[in-house]
Parts: sequence; structure tokens; C-alpha cells
Amino acid sequence: MTRQKLAIIGNGMATGRLLDELARRGGLGSFEVSVFGEEPHGCYNRILLNRVLEGGHVDDITLKPVGWYADKGVKYYPGLAVNRLSHAAQRLWTTDGREHYFDMAVFATGSLPRVPTVEGYKGADGKPKEGVFAYRTVTDVERMRDHARPGMNAVVVGGGLLGLEAAKGLADLGLSVTVAHIFDTLMNRQVDKLGGQFLRRAIERLGITVRTSANTKTVLGAKRVEALEFGGGEQLPTDMVVFASGIKARVDLAKDSDVPTNAGILVDDRLETHLPGLYAVGECAEHNGTVYGTVQPIYEQCSVLADTLTGSNPTARYRGSKVYTKLKVAGVEVASMGAVDAEQVDDEVVQIVEEKRGAYRKIIVRDGRLAGAVLVGDSSAAAVLVRLFDNRSPLPPDRLEVLSPGWSSGGPAGSDPEVCNCHHVSTSTLVGEIRGGCDTLARLSAKTKAGTGCGSCRGQLADLILKNAPVVAGRGKG
Ligand SMILES: Cc1cc2nc3c(=O)[nH]c(=O)nc-3n(C[C@H](O)[C@H](O)[C@H](O)COP(=O)(O)OP(=O)(O)OC[C@H]3O[C@@H](n4cnc5c(N)ncnc54)[C@H](O)[C@@H]3O)c2cc1C
Repeated sequence: MTRQKLAIIGNGMATGRLLDELARRGGLGSFEVSVFGEEPHGCYNRILLNRVLEGGHVDDITLKPVGWYADKGVKYYPGLAVNRLSHAAQRLWTTDGREHYFDMAVFATGSLPRVPTVEGYKGADGKPKEGVFAYRTVTDVERMRDHARPGMNAVVVGGGLLGLEAAKGLADLGLSVTVAHIFDTLMNRQVDKLGGQFLRRAIERLGITVRTSANTKTVLGAKRVEALEFGGGEQLPTDMVVFASGIKARVDLAKDSDVPTNAGILVDDRLETHLPGLYAVGECAEHNGTVYGTVQPIYEQCSVLADTLTGSNPTARYRGSKVYTKLKVAGVEVASMGAVDAEQVDDEVVQIVEEKRGAYRKIIVRDGRLAGAVLVGDSSAAAVLVRLFDNRSPLPPDRLEVLSPGWSSGGPAGSDPEVCNCHHVSTSTLVGEIRGGCDTLARLSAKTKAGTGCGSCRGQLADLILKNAPVVAGRGKG
């Protein structure tokens, strides 16, 4: 029997997850799957890019080595971009001029870095000036690493998650780093003003200079960057500048193929575009007016898309994701969900401010339920809060209880908090595996996948191992 041909365009984290979800449903056998990846590597964990910046190899962050695809019967075309697609002809064309037939195709083209309208970004040859970088791919960070030398000055434009990660990576390489952020609060999309101040102090403790309300106007220098000029005319000499100020969905291929797009490629609840048989998933997709930029919603999309494509659950629908952020940014724990400030007159705000410990925790309560939370410096309550937020569970009369260690480690009696939100792995599953012998982070992650998504739960996994691993007599001696 001939198998239907499924073409997947792009080989980023969405595709990596989609392939796993298809495999789980037998989809890698029932389809002839082809993956076209513009980047030359196997699918890698983009979240861990800093490891490459800090001297690691792409293999250290690879999720699926190039050999994985052939082993699973998937045709993989590394380093080959799709530059044209015809829905009517059910064909796509790659940059080597070859034509490929498909029955169904998935756009998983991700995003490009958004470069603010900055004068002097490009030289006379139309390319970014020497010393000017984006921060998105392994190639970007390899170039940054080749350029960077200890003692150099670097400016990172953007004080969101990506900018702070890039700044930490460069500071670790011995550069003198300034973060220039256009807003008055770092990570202003995820934290409130006070949370931003805690974050700022933690970043400054790493030796990184932070300039907020800094509007970068011009890259100065003829062929290579020599300084940045800000809105007020002030100039800051620098040897390199990294733009990490947001992303925009890659919709060009879809648009040129007459697939309706807006900020992203428009999809319905089955992740299908307006053209039957063409789907989109990940950062390139727009669902109900939202384009997501973190992995947890993308993984939820992949599950529904795999159900849709394989027909294993024809009623599966993607209804949008409740977005929460839980990460370690530049070494600082940050978690946030929902509202970051009171929005309605009756909203209650409960916060614990611990200057000395560098920890800030705040919850916003609406109608007795969690409407939002911001945690900076201590995100141990995140798993419990995410569950309360997701389920809209009523909070105890003493709101502080949900931030207390009893709740944070286990939640109220009978609950089983999820530790890894990317792979939905619960505390009880992890404890069971640890007691069964998975007593290192590597073993536990290999068995349960926990910690292999955004990686922000790895600290919690280590704690669980310490608390629950069976003590082996004689271990550590001789
Ligand atoms: C430094 C950094 C840190 C991050 N940290 C976090 C975090 O802590 N938590 C979190 O949840 N998220 C984080 N993110 C975001 C997360 O990495 C993204 O949400 C996720 O990678 C998006 O996956 P994607 O597959 O949709 O897109 P991408 O990963 O961008 O993959 C798309 C791929 O498609 C390829 N492509 C595009 N067009 C074509 C074409 N025409 N033909 C062939 N190939 C094509 C691209 O080259 C790319 O390889 C971070 C991102 C970065 C850059």
C-alpha cells in the first residue's frame, strides 16, 4: 500500500516534538515523512543556545542527531530550505531546484529575530556591520563566539528573556556587557515593576550593566560597529552589539504560496490553514489572534496536530494555551502567569518581598482564584501556582499558604503537582522512577523526558533526586 507523503518545512523544536507525537501514534510508519531544514544540524534545543556561546558544541544541545531520522524512516534534508510551494500542484521546491510531491504539508518555519529600526545596522554592502549580531541560531552564536574576546565591550539590545540570556553568556566569556532595554522594566512582559527591580539587581550582581528606557537609534562605525547612539544623543562605545529585541513569525513562504497570514500563518482549531491539507505549528502559526513564543503552547499544538494528521483522535481540538513562564534567566529563577498587576478593583494582591534573599513573590487573586503570579529569585512555588491557575481552583482563605514550602513541595493533601510542564511529568512519576533506580539527572531525564524541554525544572529534579534516591550502602567509598 502506498503511504501518504507528509512534508514538514522547518526542523526546529516544533518539528522535533511533532515527530515524537507522530511516532507515539504510529504516524512515522503510516506516512512517508520528509523534513526540510534550512539549518544544517539535527533538531536542537534552541533554549540552550547559551551552552554553545559559552564554548559547547551543537551536539551538546542536539535533540535528534542527523542519524535519528533515517533510523525512524524519516527522510531528512539538512541545510535545505523550501523556497516555493504550490497547494494546487501539491508540490514544493527546494533551494537546490528539486521538486517534491506531498499529500499534506506542515509549515514549522518558526521565527526570525526582530531588528528594531536602527540606523547604520547594515554596511554599504547591505549586510550587518562587522560586530553586529542576531541571537537565534547555532550559527549566530558561533559567530558571536568567534568575534568575542575577553575585555571587549558588548551591548545587548533587549532586556527580555533572550537579551538577558545573551548578556549572561557574553559576561561569562569575560566581556564587559551592557543591556540596553527600551522599557523601564526588564522582562516587562513577564514581571511587574518591583519584580523587574529584583531581576535588575540580580543581573547587576553578575557584573552586567543595565540601562532601561534606552532607545537605541544608530549603530555607529563605517564597516564595523564602534558605538551605539541612544535617543537622547548619548553614545556608548562598543566592540559588538547583539540584537535580542523580539521575534517575528516566518510567514513569507506561506504568504507567497497564497496561504492566508496575519502576524502568523492563520490556523483553525485543528492547526489547519485556510487551505485544506496545509497545516502550521509552532512560532510561525497564529491561532485565534495569538502567536506563541514559548515551547509549552507549541508542544500542546503538536499533540493536537499529530492527532489530526494520524486520525487517532479526530475530535482533538486546540483551544489556545494558558501561557506561563517558568525559567532560569541568566541564572535567576523567574516564573510568571496571567496578570502581573491588579487589573480590577476587587483584585487582591498578596506579596512577599525579601530584599536580603533577593526573592520576590506576588500573587493576584480574583474571586478567590489565582488570576496571576510573579516569582523572581525563588520559583519553588511555580508548579503549585501553575496548577491552581490552570484548574481555576479556589485558594485557601490564608492566601500565603500557597507560597509556603509545604504547598510548594507537595501542594495540598492528595495533589500531585506537575514538575516538568513541557513534558507533563508529575511529582509522583518522578519519585517512582527515582526510587526505581533513576538516581541521576541524566537517567531521570532519559527515562521520563523531564528537564529536556525548557530545562527550567532541572533544579527541582535535582532536589527530588536528593530527597528520594535510595541510599546505597558503601557508595562513595574507595
Ligand atoms: C536563546 C533562546 C532562549 C529561549 N528560551 C526559552 C525558554 O526558556 N522557554 C521557552 O519556552 N522558550 C524559549 N525560547 C523560545 C523557543 O526556543 C521557541 O519557542 C521554539 O524554539 C520555537 O520552535 P519552532 O520550531 O516553532 O521554531 P524554530 O525553533 O525557530 O524552528 C524553525 C526552523 O525552521 C527553519 N526554516 C524556516 N523556514 C524554512 C524553510 N523555508 N525551509 C526549511 N527550513 C526553514 C528555521 O531555519 C528553523 O530551523 C528561547 C529561544 C531562544 C532563541
